[in-house]
Amino acid sequence: MSEETTPFLELAGVTKKYGDFTAVSDINLSIREGELFTLVGPSGSGKTTMIRMLVGMDQPTSGEMRLKGRVLNKVPANKRPTCMVFQSLALFPHKSVGENVEFAMKIAGVDPARRRQRAEELLAQLRLPLDCYDKGVNQCSGGERQRIALARALAFNPEILFFDEPLSALDFRLRKALEKELKDIHRETGKTFVYITHSLEEAMVMSDRIGIMRDGRIVQVGTPHEIYNKPINEFVAKFMGEVNSLEVEAVGENMVKSKVYGDTYHVGTMPAGFTAGFLIIRPEVVKIGKAAAPMPNRIQGVVFNDYALGSRIQYQVRSATNGDPWLVERLQDEAYEGQLGDTVDIGWRPEDSIVLSE
Ligand code: ADP
Ligand code: MG
Repeated sequence: MSEETTPFLELAGVTKKYGDFTAVSDINLSIREGELFTLVGPSGSGKTTMIRMLVGMDQPTSGEMRLKGRVLNKVPANKRPTCMVFQSLALFPHKSVGENVEFAMKIAGVDPARRRQRAEELLAQLRLPLDCYDKGVNQCSGGERQRIALARALAFNPEILFFDEPLSALDFRLRKALEKELKDIHRETGKTFVYITHSLEEAMVMSDRIGIMRDGRIVQVGTPHEIYNKPINEFVAKFMGEVNSLEVEAVGENMVKSKVYGDTYHVGTMPAGFTAGFLIIRPEVVKIGKAAAPMPNRIQGVVFNDYALGSRIQYQVRSATNGDPWLVERLQDEAYEGQLGDTVDIGWRPEDSIVLSE
């Protein structure tokens, strides 16, 4: 029982100031052993500062960081059981895979035979072929290099691995592949991963839980499912990607009115005591054409743009009555007969919209 109740990595009131500027503000957070926790936030929101304090490259101005109950604040970086994995897959380019993986052990003075044995274990754990050992890292593929970088980090035998936007410089396809690989590796190693990205989409793919940062604060912590379905405010809802967002006020039970455009919409539920805030409607819940006919919320509009998004098509539709622009998405194979310039119905179910107070 005590094992479950002893938190793994805990931050209590962690704050970092640079002069008058507060980069990280009063963070209270508990990260579980073995989870893949991702900090997501726009550039400048304090993500790197958080990690720098956790690995010991920087000191909090106030607050406490604890690992399994032990205060980390004063522990020097090289004595912490944490490891910063890589930035842009920064391996030693002119060394072999084996030399890269053995780096930490060589520094620690481990003898060559033992080093090699451990390196081979790590290569096997990361499903890298043994003949990789003597290859130059430049001969390895992107996926292999990620695994080598992880093998090198795991050789330090850290309790926690930190990743600061490792994939952000890579092209789209490689990034997508490596996101999934990283999730697999996380599962295989069973280590605690703390990952940073500015892309909520990337975080959604791989994380057990996500913490959303804004202006040095954590605004929401939850599973990808919770963040997607129950964003706490408009910032989180919009951070996810393109959404329809309207400033609204309550005008009756489960009924809101657009402050700018004046029209009213049925909603599934409203936060207790809701008077005004935002109505969020994801493009993919909005139906277009015949499919919109049975929907309780319906608007007539003109299609003025369409974009192929791969499996989906996105339409921009301007309301015929007030000019309000809407985003609508449908799957390629959902029937829709319309074209640009057509007047169409769009509509959605009240329970598919989200009402937020802030
Ligand atoms: P992120 O990683 O989310 O992009 P950072 O943690 O790097 O954000 O930075 C958070 C804020 O703190 C930024 O406004 C940045 O300019 C500021 N900052 C970071 N490091 C320093 C520093 N050494 N001195 C002054 N300001 C800093
Ligand atoms: Mg950063």
